Amino acid sequence: MKYVELDAVDRRLIRAASEVLARNYRDPRHTVGAAVLCASGRIYAGVNVESCGYGPCAEPIAIGRAISDGEREITCIVAVGGATPPHKVMSPCGNCRQLIIDYAPDCWVILTHKGRARKVKAGDLIPDAYSNFG
Ligand SMILES: [Zn+2]
Repeated sequence: MKYVELDAVDRRLIRAASEVLARNYRDPRHTVGAAVLCASGRIYAGVNVESCGYGPCAEPIAIGRAISDGEREITCIVAVGGATPPHKVMSPCGNCRQLIIDYAPDCWVILTHKGRARKVKAGDLIPDAYSNFG
């Protein structure tokens, strides 16, 4: 997997995820924030939702907000967690990795690698996905 250092736009996306989490943090139901950057340049952010049996992560909430607003190309995504800023960048869970490659297979995903926030291409998170369909 090729890890790439973050740039100013990536840090702005992390701030957007952190801000939506700071505004809406309610333990235990809303503890993770996510933000997506779209090709339009717009950023969409959201927090996870939780119930006793199941609750979507923050990433599908942010992706759903972008799609609901007419966006079709997501270029980068990040999730952060923690009770208070500075929030920590989180790596996406398995379900979210699948969701990300289904909706934005070429986007960047910001995650934590060896204690540092970096980014990787979404396709690297699930290598050879759907390769037998080609
Ligand atoms: Zn997830």
